[in-house]
Amino acid sequence: MTIQENVPLAPLTTLQVGGAARYFAQAKREDEVRETVDFAKTRQLPLFVLGGGSNLVVADSGWPGLVLRIAIGGITSPSLQGTSGNSVLFSVGAGVSWDEFVAQAVAQNCAGIECLSGIPGSVGGTPVQNVGAYGQEVADTIESVCALDIKENRAVVLPKPACGFRYRSSIFNRIDDTGQLGRYIILQVNYRLKRGGAPSLKYADLQKHFADVKTTPSLAMVREAVRQIRRSKGMLLVPGDEDCRSAGSFFKNPVLSEEQFHDLAARAQSKGLEIPSYPALEAQHKVSAAWLVEHSGFAKGFRLGRAAISKKHALALINTGDAKASDVVQLQETIQNGVRQSWGTLLEPEPVFVGF
Ligand SMILES: Cc1cc2nc3c(=O)[nH]c(=O)nc-3n(C[C@H](O)[C@H](O)[C@H](O)COP(=O)(O)OP(=O)(O)OC[C@H]3O[C@@H](n4cnc5c(N)ncnc54)[C@H](O)[C@@H]3O)c2cc1C
Repeated sequence: MTIQENVPLAPLTTLQVGGAARYFAQAKREDEVRETVDFAKTRQLPLFVLGGGSNLVVADSGWPGLVLRIAIGGITSPSLQGTSGNSVLFSVGAGVSWDEFVAQAVAQNCAGIECLSGIPGSVGGTPVQNVGAYGQEVADTIESVCALDIKENRAVVLPKPACGFRYRSSIFNRIDDTGQLGRYIILQVNYRLKRGGAPSLKYADLQKHFADVKTTPSLAMVREAVRQIRRSKGMLLVPGDEDCRSAGSFFKNPVLSEEQFHDLAARAQSKGLEIPSYPALEAQHKVSAAWLVEHSGFAKGFRLGRAAISKKHALALINTGDAKASDVVQLQETIQNGVRQSWGTLLEPEPVFVGF
């Protein structure tokens, strides 16, 4: 296992800001992961696990400890394993590119993740914030997650109920009862998909796309449609497109209680506006963060220093070229303050802040 020193992190992230890792290692196998964890433990170095770097804001001062990049590959062939009826189990290495796996599943006519096409990052990153888009989330198809439990120093298989999936959250990004975060390093994820299953067409954007198509679109058509829609919103990584130099959506859609929602809706009504919302769990309402941003005086393309709001998507904060992490954070705080003043709601950031 090679441990490198002072490795710049910005090029390993989609937002492309931030400083270097004091120590850096890349692991292709479980034993390399264990070896690197031991290196960090014996030197008492803080450990950060890196996937595809698509949901991160790295501090300008970088990471003072060890960054471990997970590069475990492998997608098991469903024709060999786990096929019962039309339900198919895919076991995928945490370092596999998520979109490559989606492409493979769709090519094998397996349904369940087609709407998650075009999301950047690694397979191991998907359970962390329960990645979701266009009416699907990975919690719908994850059967179990294989991980290294750093606390107990052993490999574990966590069945889906043990992963505690919620909206943009799981046990992998929440602090546990003992106050610990980052107890598990994800090594492999097992997804159960449906061979020959119909594509999911829950979202209005997708229904509109296929409005003139008389028959049910194929999984491949839905994958292509999702990628096209994402491209138009700067949510697909396209080389040279400044609008996708981001960490995706920067703010989560606020999930409000009945009472909070009624307050907000009343405020909107007093301004002659109706706030877009969707029902959430347990009598809660999920409110559109994009709407709140745009109705607080921040239009798409709004620029502050070297950071800006994407011209294609109100929730994506972008690096206009040579931004520092501090530029992005300044823009983030300006938007949060503006939304709080206009609507009394605090927008919670979605990306993970590293080294702040
Ligand atoms: C253009 C763009 C569009 C996006 N669209 C969406 C979207 O539609 N829906 C959505 O949900 N997200 C979206 N995202 C966010 C991001 O792509 C996802 O959150 C993705 O799953 C992050 O995976 P990653 O491998 O890049 O993780 P990283 O960014 O490297 O890490 C994110 C977090 O996961 C942890 N982590 C990563 N790998 C492991 C592992 N193997 N074990 C333990 N912890 C790990 C890291 O420590 C960190 O806390 C988008 C991002 C971009 C840039």
